[in-house]
Amino acid sequence: MTAQTRLIDAIRSALGERSVTTDAERIAPLLTDWRGRFHGAADAMLLPASTQDVATMVRLAGEYRVPLVPQGGNTSMVGGATPPADGSALLLSTRRLNRIRRLDPEARLAVAEAGVILQTLHERAAEVGCRFPLTLGSRGTATIGGLVSTNAGGTQVLRWGNMRRLVTGVEAVLPDGSVHDGLTPLPKDNRGYDLDQLMIGAEGTLGIVTAATLRLAPAVLARAVAWVGIADPEAGLALLRRMQAATDAIESFEIVPGDTLERVLDYLPDARAPLTGTHPWHLLIEAVAATPEDEAPDVLLARLLGDALEAGLAADAVIAASEAQAEAFWRLRDSLSAAERAAGPAVQHDISVPVDRMPRFMVEAAAAAEARFPGTHATAFGHLGDGNVHFHVRAPAGADPARWMAEAAPGITAFVHDLVVAAGGSISAEHGIGQMKRDELARLGPPARLAALRAIKRGLDPLNLFNPHKLVTLAPVDGAK
Ligand code: FAD
Repeated sequence: MTAQTRLIDAIRSALGERSVTTDAERIAPLLTDWRGRFHGAADAMLLPASTQDVATMVRLAGEYRVPLVPQGGNTSMVGGATPPADGSALLLSTRRLNRIRRLDPEARLAVAEAGVILQTLHERAAEVGCRFPLTLGSRGTATIGGLVSTNAGGTQVLRWGNMRRLVTGVEAVLPDGSVHDGLTPLPKDNRGYDLDQLMIGAEGTLGIVTAATLRLAPAVLARAVAWVGIADPEAGLALLRRMQAATDAIESFEIVPGDTLERVLDYLPDARAPLTGTHPWHLLIEAVAATPEDEAPDVLLARLLGDALEAGLAADAVIAASEAQAEAFWRLRDSLSAAERAAGPAVQHDISVPVDRMPRFMVEAAAAAEARFPGTHATAFGHLGDGNVHFHVRAPAGADPARWMAEAAPGITAFVHDLVVAAGGSISAEHGIGQMKRDELARLGPPARLAALRAIKRGLDPLNLFNPHKLVTLAPVDGAK
C-alpha cells in the first residue's frame, strides 16, 4: 500500500466519501494545464467543503508525507496547478469551497471562499450595487483562491491595482495544519510580517487559501469603450499619459498589434474588425463614470480622442455605440490568448519593464528576437499602461510544432528574458513562476531575492508538502517528498 493510498483511506475515514475522489475520468482533465504544455499524475483529488476539512487533510498529508497541489480553475499559464508527473502528490480542488460568506456594500467588502469563480463574484457584487474591480479573460473559470495565489492582474490594474491591492486579508491553512485567519479588515495592524501578503502570489507553496476579504468599488453607472488605430506603441503611451493628465476615469488601456487582431478575427469567424482601415497597432480604451457628477464617459472619450486625432497620436478611432458593441470590442481583447493558442506554436512570455521603457522594448525586442532566430515572428500585446505585455515568438512557417518547441523554446526564452532583465524588468508580470519559469527564476533571480524565497519556503513548509517544485526548488529534506 502506497503512502498516497493510506492517506486517501485516512481522509475518507475522517471526512467521509465525498471528501475525495479517485475517479480517473473526473481527474484526468485536471492533470494538464490550460496551454496543454504540462502533464501530471495524481491518484486522487481531495474535495474539502470547509476550512476545517482542509486543515484535517493537511495534517494527515503531513503524517503520510504526501504533497498536495492546490487547484482552483486550472487556468494557470505557467503549469502552476499541474501536479508532478511521478504521481507523488494528490490534487486538492477548492471547487466545494464556493460560498460568499459576506457581501457588505456599506463597508465595500466581500468575503469569498477560495473556490468562488470570479464571474460569480462579479454578478453577486452587482446585485448589491457594487463591483469587484478586477477582470481577466479567464473570469468564467478562475477562482478567488487562484487569483489570490497568483496575485492576478488583468485589464483594470491601471486604475485599481492587482490582487495585492484588492485583498485586505486572507484565511489560509498553513503546512502544519494550523489556520491563519486574516479575514477581519484592520486598517492598522503591525504584528510583524504580513502573512496575508505572504500568501498573495505564493502560488500555493506556503498555504492553502480558503477565503479572502476583498475590496469592492461602487458599481459603474456608465462606461464607454473605444477602439483606436495608432502608428506605434510610443504613440500609445503618449496618448495614455495625455488622457491620465486630463481624467482619472480611464480604467483600461490595452494594446494589440495589427497581425494579432487578424489572428483573433480568424479565430472568431462571427467577429468584425472595429475599424475599417488597417493599422499597425490598436488600442482598446475603457472610461467609466461611477457617480452622476462624473462626465459621461462617451463624451469624455470623444473629446480626448478628438484631441488625439488632431495631435496625430491616433490615426482613427471609434467609440462603441451600444453595450453590445462594447462587449464585442472586449471579446476581441479577451480572446487574444485563445486565438494565439489556436494559431500554432509560439514561445510565450509574460513580462514587465518600467512603463516608460515599454514602447521601445516592444519594438526593439521583437526585432532583436526575429534577427536572432530567423523565420520567427515576434509580437507583444496587453497591458501597456502597466508596463506589462505578453511577448510571443511564433515558430517559422512549416516548423514541426513539438520539435520546434523542444529545441528552440529554451534558447528563445533565455534570449527574451535576458533582454527583460537588461531593461530592469521582471520575467513574470502577472502569471507567476509555476513550473514553467522556475529554472529561469533560478538563473536570473537576484541572489538576495532567491535566498529569501527559499528560506521562507523552508521555514514554513519544511517537509515541502505544498505544491513542491513550483516557484523554487529546495534540496530534499529527510522523509520529505
Ligand atoms: P489555478 O490555475 O487553479 O492555480 C493557479 C496557482 O494558484 C497554482 O499554483 C495553484 O496551485 C495555486 N492555487 C489555486 N488555488 C489555490 C488556493 N486556494 N490556495 C493556494 N494556492 C492555490 N492572469 C492575470 O493575472 N491577468 C490576466 O489578464 C490573465 N488573463 C488570462 C486569460 C486567459 C484566457 C487565461 C486562460 C488565463 C489568464 N490569466 C491571467 C491566468 C490565470 O487565469 C490567473 O493566474 C488566475 O489567477 C488563476 O486562477 P485559477 O483559479 O484558475 O488558479
